[in-house]
Amino acid sequence: MDLMVQIDGQAVPLADCFWVRATANGCAVGSIRPDLGDDLIATPQQAQREWSATKRQREVDARRGMQHLLLTHEQWKTQAEPCFRGQCQHRKAA
Ligand SMILES: [Zn+2]
Repeated sequence: MDLMVQIDGQAVPLADCFWVRATANGCAVGSIRPDLGDDLIATPQQAQREWSATKRQREVDARRGMQHLLLTHEQWKTQAEPCFRGQCQHRKAA
């Protein structure tokens, strides 16, 4: 039985989603599958640990306003993929 999550009122299997690490202005800088490891990554806190293993790193994240967001594959394509391709609005604004 797949673990289901609610995103924008839509129930989707967690395994079909992506965790995205984004800067304060929403620019995606990393992404991982929730089912990457032995345990499902089910919370933003767990996702953050994939990038920031230590408390010190997480404090730096907090100061920078780093975000860890769960996106559906559809959302990933529109919100995160342009960032990885260097074609997003965030970079144009910077
Ligand atoms: Zn971006």
